[in-house]
Amino acid sequence: IREQVNKLVPIPLPKLIEGKGAISQTAQVLTELGGVKPLIVTDAMLVKLGIAKHLTDALDAANIAYSLFDEVTPDPTLPLIANGWQRYKQDGCDSVIALGGGSPMDCAKAIAAAAVKNVDARKLVGLLRVRKALPPFIAIPTTAGTGSEATVVAVVTDPEKKQKFTIVDPSLVPAVAIVDPLLMLGLPAKITAETGIDALTHAVESYIGCYATEQTKAYGYDAVKRIFANLPKAYADGSDIEARRQMSIASFNAGVAFTRASIGYVHAIAHQMGGYYHVPHGLANAVLLPHILDFSFENALCRYAELAIAAGLANSEDSQVEAAHKFVAGVKALNKTLNIQAGFPELKANDIPELAKRAVREAYCDYPVPKLMNRAQCEA
Ligand code: NAD
Repeated sequence: IREQVNKLVPIPLPKLIEGKGAISQTAQVLTELGGVKPLIVTDAMLVKLGIAKHLTDALDAANIAYSLFDEVTPDPTLPLIANGWQRYKQDGCDSVIALGGGSPMDCAKAIAAAAVKNVDARKLVGLLRVRKALPPFIAIPTTAGTGSEATVVAVVTDPEKKQKFTIVDPSLVPAVAIVDPLLMLGLPAKITAETGIDALTHAVESYIGCYATEQTKAYGYDAVKRIFANLPKAYADGSDIEARRQMSIASFNAGVAFTRASIGYVHAIAHQMGGYYHVPHGLANAVLLPHILDFSFENALCRYAELAIAAGLANSEDSQVEAAHKFVAGVKALNKTLNIQAGFPELKANDIPELAKRAVREAYCDYPVPKLMNRAQCEA
């Protein structure tokens, strides 16, 4: 059924321009897409670190005027997106370049969607509310990561409700993803670890869910393979360009997989931790992933066994059960290597019932999980 749905609502693949120094091609790509004056959507840290300068230098060299919106903060809010849209209109922009992690990329998607629909992004929350091509849109990720450069999703936060929502539409897939590992060399080890496990979570949840197809499994398998081989290297030595490059490809591939096959309880709970306490998304996923793997063990055993082989943790001599156990143990060991914390110090006992209610509802509506969780199990 999922394959049929995918045919009815086809999800495009962004054109991928990948490799060291790929960002220098941005001006040419923008011109080919028909963009004349882009809004650059990024955050102040990337400007301060000189990462945004690679992009502005490339545009300056081609005499392309731009407007710089560098106000994005982690987990972009609806009012922030409204400000960005205002800037887009005021400065007469006709295209958008997102530079950053998931937060600038999602903020940029929501600004572009608001611009093309001429409504506040709040009205676009939900499924298939955009249904119109975005203005020329280029995504340049600086974390590896969310995979937002390949997905149909923009995650937006409503600060009043302390809740994350999604805008989901195939038109949110960027026209072009420019994936340049040189932009990621200075990513601090902690963010490298957390965002890397975010990509792993996308690969795993899409692989074990009931919407997985041969195509999404191939992308997820590839991502798991690259992440186990390269995330510890990128964490230990941020200047390891090849490890960074492999992680950036893994993140893209995991994005391609999960945007077609969806996610599961790790994300359903992580979104509540982000909405309520601003726990960084990757960290929330990293803390939760081992627990959800344990929870779904019997129902996802065969898929875990396959992923154990992808991760290089098991071989064809192992029984399925042995291999599946090795996969879960391997994820836990990876968390340890990356010094991922064990729990959430900010979690308040009084909040747990509401958080569990929201997480179970989010998953029940949207996620093809291998095993359903009730509220009491989630609270535990
Ligand atoms: P982020 O974009 O919030 O960035 C985290 C921090 O890392 C920021 O302080 C940023 O300045 C810094 N940073 C980014 N790149 C850097 C670099 N190269 N060098 C140094 N510092 C750098 O983090 P994220 O994890 O990439 O994105 C998280 C957001 O993405 C969440 O809101 C999450 O819900 C969303 N998300 C979206 C999708 C999607 O498909 N749209 C998927 C998963 C997550």
